Amino acid sequence: MKKTILIILLFISISSFSQNKNIKESSICSNIEKLSSDDFLGRESGKEGEKKAAEYIKNFFITNEVPKIGHSYFQEFIVKGKRYNYRNEKNKKPFIQRAKQKNNKIKGKNVIGFIEGTEKKEEVIVVSAHYDHLGFREEKIYNGADDNATGTAAVLEVSKALSKYVKEGGKLKRSVLFILMSAEEKGLIGSKHYTDNPIIPLKKTIANLNIDMIGRKDKRHEKNNYIYIIGSDFISKELHEINEKNNKKVGLELDYRYNNIRDPNRFYFRSDHYNFAKNDIPCIFYFSGVHEDYHQPTDTFEKIDCKKVQKISQLVFLNIITIANKERRLRKNKD
Ligand SMILES: [Zn+2]
Repeated sequence: MKKTILIILLFISISSFSQNKNIKESSICSNIEKLSSDDFLGRESGKEGEKKAAEYIKNFFITNEVPKIGHSYFQEFIVKGKRYNYRNEKNKKPFIQRAKQKNNKIKGKNVIGFIEGTEKKEEVIVVSAHYDHLGFREEKIYNGADDNATGTAAVLEVSKALSKYVKEGGKLKRSVLFILMSAEEKGLIGSKHYTDNPIIPLKKTIANLNIDMIGRKDKRHEKNNYIYIIGSDFISKELHEINEKNNKKVGLELDYRYNNIRDPNRFYFRSDHYNFAKNDIPCIFYFSGVHEDYHQPTDTFEKIDCKKVQKISQLVFLNIITIANKERRLRKNKD
């Protein structure tokens, strides 16, 4: 018995030692609560709620000393509406109909923070999550707590922790861009705009870690300690191995069920990392699956498991440090 307790204590101390203490569950939780509150009106791109959320994210970057790159934290866009590029879209009908309308212009702004590396600072890792959601209609607000206040809060917390890490003398050879994308819900439009107009050339963009919906549990799992990993080995097996190795310190159950381009759900094609993958940039999509509140006004804060979001943030943080400090950039499978 004593021995078991000792082993457990040892395990706890090892795992807490390897975690970044600046990634806090309380802070993640309060950001999710705030962003998914009615104040933000469902954060539909181009609308008042999105603008408010963009300001909130910008202010978070300023408060936590995550600099901007160039003259602004915002990358604004107006693009012509178009159809969604995936099939399983039952719940998105109203948006598809709207997007099909002639001359439909989709407006939005990506919010971007930047932490510069040292020796190889011209190379960059993009860490992303979309912060927009479906807005409101018929007097119902689509709060989008899981989709995707969770991913947004994770990216913000990681940016804050990385800023502190660098200030305290931590090593970071390559640079990191934190991009909170807009208009994902209208067909991955913010990330398409970014990859068409990159701030740092795509040739120098060595990886994308994208987080979308990570705070809930689906029906396939009993315990909420899992995360679906999608795309990790498609372009670079080395990226896949780094993620697995770092996860030993975090202890999530990595589920590869959807890590298949032929999966009928087509999750690989359905979030912002896909625009990076299309450009041959190694990427990982962190996702914890769909649930009964997916794209419903009932996707609300009190159903979110903030501890899980914290763990995934830890894993993303460790991956950034590993990828940023490697001697050589990530090896691609075709190299
Ligand atoms: Zn989403």
